[in-house]
Amino acid sequence: MGIVNYPSLNDIETLLLDMDGTLLDLRFDNHFWVDHLPVRYGDIHGLEHELANSHVERQLRDAEGTLNWYCTDHWSRHFNVDIMTLKREVEHLIQYRPGTEKFLRELDSYDHLKIYIVTDAHPNVLALKQMVTGLLDQVHDHHCSHHYGLPKRDLRFWQALSEQIDFDPATTMMIDDSPAVLQQCRNFGIEHLLCVEKPDSGRAHDHKHDFPLIDDLSILLEQP
Ligand SMILES: [Mg+2]
Repeated sequence: MGIVNYPSLNDIETLLLDMDGTLLDLRFDNHFWVDHLPVRYGDIHGLEHELANSHVERQLRDAEGTLNWYCTDHWSRHFNVDIMTLKREVEHLIQYRPGTEKFLRELDSYDHLKIYIVTDAHPNVLALKQMVTGLLDQVHDHHCSHHYGLPKRDLRFWQALSEQIDFDPATTMMIDDSPAVLQQCRNFGIEHLLCVEKPDSGRAHDHKHDFPLIDDLSILLEQP
């Protein structure tokens, strides 16, 4: 991909920001589901590691793209473990992605801008991440798809959101690490769409989509 000309924040009225993989490092989430949960699930239920691993992986894969995938209550019941207790065991991995703390702090000087976090994260997970980072204090409001009963990769979510917050798609920017989500934003008519280049600091990413990429969000502060 060539050089991206990012829009000026002066031309944006509403900024919609995903949380995991966009503002916060996806390393926490990936580590939790791929490494930590299988190990702890095996410990708790006395299962051999390979077996626990393949069971957890298969169950998660089957739920991918659905709201259940993000629902800690669903997985607590399903695996018969306390997902939130297990998440807290690795909460030291909940961290801002490079540049995002600065980005949020300096957005304060853009008086015209309405800033919302729009996330598929379960409210319990959002609460944990707020406790560790305080990120909700830096935006105007947040919307969890859980409360709408629809994931962000469902077009109807965007219709429902537009009934809750007043935004003009022509002057709205959405930043997310999921091309499937950005595609629905595009279908809804949101004009400015950016995809995070490296959502997980511990993994390489392969991009197969045409959304402009961004890594350090604070570069947007430098656009005239
Ligand atoms: Mg995300």
